[in-house]
Amino acid sequence: MAEAAPPSNENKPKSAPQRALEKLGLTRDIDLALHLPLRYEDETQLTPIAALRDGDIAQVEGVVTDSRVQFRPRRQLVVKLHDAWNDDPSDLVLRFLHFYPSHQKTLAEGARVRVRGEARGGFFGLEMVHPSFKAVNEGAPLARALTPVYPSTAQLPQAYLRKAVASGLAHADLGELLPPGSVPRQLPTLREALNFLHHPAPDVSLATLEDHSHPAWQRLKFEELLAQQLSQLKAKLERERQRAPAFALRAGGLQEKLLAALPFALTEAQRRVVEEIARDLGRETPMHRLLQGDVGSGKTVVAALAAAIAIEEGWQCALMAPTEILAEQHLRKLVGWLTPLGITVAWLTGSRKGKARAQMLAQVASGEAALVVGTHAVIQDQVEFAKLGLAIIDEQHRFGVQQRLALRSKLQDGPLEPHTLMMSATPIPRTLAMTLFADLDISTIDELPPGRTPVVTKLFAEDKRDAVIARIRDEVAAGRQVYWVCPLIEESETLDLRNATATHQQLYEALPGQMVGLLHGRMPAAEKAAVMSLFSGGQMGVLVSTTVIEVGVDVPNASLMVIEHAERFGLSQLHQLRGRVGRGAVASVCVLLYTTPLSDTAKSRLKAMIETTDGFEIARRDLEIRGPGEFFGARQSGAPLLRFADLAEDEPLLRLARAAAQALLAQHPQAAERHIARWLGSKTDYLKA
Ligand code: ADP
Ligand code: MG
Repeated sequence: MAEAAPPSNENKPKSAPQRALEKLGLTRDIDLALHLPLRYEDETQLTPIAALRDGDIAQVEGVVTDSRVQFRPRRQLVVKLHDAWNDDPSDLVLRFLHFYPSHQKTLAEGARVRVRGEARGGFFGLEMVHPSFKAVNEGAPLARALTPVYPSTAQLPQAYLRKAVASGLAHADLGELLPPGSVPRQLPTLREALNFLHHPAPDVSLATLEDHSHPAWQRLKFEELLAQQLSQLKAKLERERQRAPAFALRAGGLQEKLLAALPFALTEAQRRVVEEIARDLGRETPMHRLLQGDVGSGKTVVAALAAAIAIEEGWQCALMAPTEILAEQHLRKLVGWLTPLGITVAWLTGSRKGKARAQMLAQVASGEAALVVGTHAVIQDQVEFAKLGLAIIDEQHRFGVQQRLALRSKLQDGPLEPHTLMMSATPIPRTLAMTLFADLDISTIDELPPGRTPVVTKLFAEDKRDAVIARIRDEVAAGRQVYWVCPLIEESETLDLRNATATHQQLYEALPGQMVGLLHGRMPAAEKAAVMSLFSGGQMGVLVSTTVIEVGVDVPNASLMVIEHAERFGLSQLHQLRGRVGRGAVASVCVLLYTTPLSDTAKSRLKAMIETTDGFEIARRDLEIRGPGEFFGARQSGAPLLRFADLAEDEPLLRLARAAAQALLAQHPQAAERHIARWLGSKTDYLKA
């Protein structure tokens, strides 16, 4: 579409620092005001040169008595500085290994300069290597506050950034939005807090700034957590105003028939969550529930039972998984359980094209297909449901932001909103459940089906590879199956990773007479499906794969999981992969092959894997090791949602913010809106996705 460009004043080319500011997201005054210093420099005092001690970081003022370029041991500018205040014989040497003519000019003999740096005991007395310096006139005033040093980039000089931040701070609308009583009493206003953090008084305890316990920091964190709580509570209230179809649970209905047909009895935990879900489905407000349960805890059958309730009442159910392999696993199970009960299941993925696809779409549109299983293809524009009553989303954090937003709008296009059930094998630690997922109801399967033997995890250094291969030989000889997971498919020049193809070749040669398969992300979907079906069918003994098998694959006869370059994987990813084995009655082993040297975080991840198989404990440690990013997936859309608050430390503040948010929404809804807008702006959509 050709539209006239709006008149703009953006034709003026931007300077490099301006572009750098934009790249850092520092465009609005408020963004600049919230760009906090990394650290501070004390330019409020001058130290007499005679009082300098080895290791002091200090500012001194002096007159240059000598300035020359030396060539030994290498070219360098050496400047002698005589104290401007005290006639002290001990001069300070300034040494510059890199310098420009402008350095020489400012530091010419006779110049008066202020110099800041670390004093070091050198061969010829005290010296500073590469100090910062500036020319001053006699009697130039000292800074009255600490000088902020901001996080920056190469194209953005501190001086430029300081000016920009100071201007943002002066112009940003920082007026108090919150009514008295909603902020913990001892905290300063936002304006006071920011003024202070950008220009703290020289007598401040730097420790309280560094560990963020200073009241100014607490105010910022409180504001941020409050915005976050408000937006979540609001989403929840909005949802409670929407209408959904209510499904009654009928005696002798589909759900009971399905239960009776299952080859196993539900665990106590499964029974409980099915009840929680059934209760939600019986209401006229849309369900918004997260079903969390460790890998192998049996979430799929819970999904099927929920679907049965909706279908019984004449509504459709959609089940989506993030990958085709996973969707297909669901399909196979659900078809096995539900078609004998007379339910038509449709299958929609990106790779389904042409006539088969048209046929499926027609079945979905007419309502003939009561259950639709697939990837995000299920929510594409061409797909029209006759009567969608329940959407089930497996591993929803792995869907992209756009897909999740599309899903929301798809779900919201009728007079009645469908119920939604999200499923995740990554349990959410409590503080996260209270913040980013505060708008969700949570059901937890905290028990594995009976008869499972916990997986034993073992660490092997890469040079024990042959021993691991011998182990594989034993395992397949006994009729069991093995996964071997590699982190990358192609040799990369920068990462020295053994690629899946090479490993596949090696195992193929080491295991004559065995079928060894290869699965990676770049294979065509049909080929992937063929390999997967040979492995699930038991004909293939060993499957070498990249992380495409990470979620949800269910082959109970697989008893050994080898993860190559385990040090490169995240903790929850390792746990998910390990969950591919130990699904049947056979005792299973997970071998983590690693390459030294190990970073500290890699060490703590591998240690956690050895020490526990409990998904909640893993999630807690993961939060500790790498922060909350892992859990949000696309919710964070790249930037961490919480810039100031730290969920590992700020639980007490979080509780205050939560209580304040409830009171504010009830008593001062407009103030709540303004606060959300200031803090989250256009980001609120992503929060809901
Ligand atoms: P996940 O929670 O990881 O999605 P699945 O739903 O794939 O787990 O279930 C793992 C395996 O356990 C499947 O083979 C499933 O049929 C089986 N299963 C589920 N519930 C039970 C149960 N109550 N008793 C025995 N086996 C069960
Ligand atoms: Mg699953």
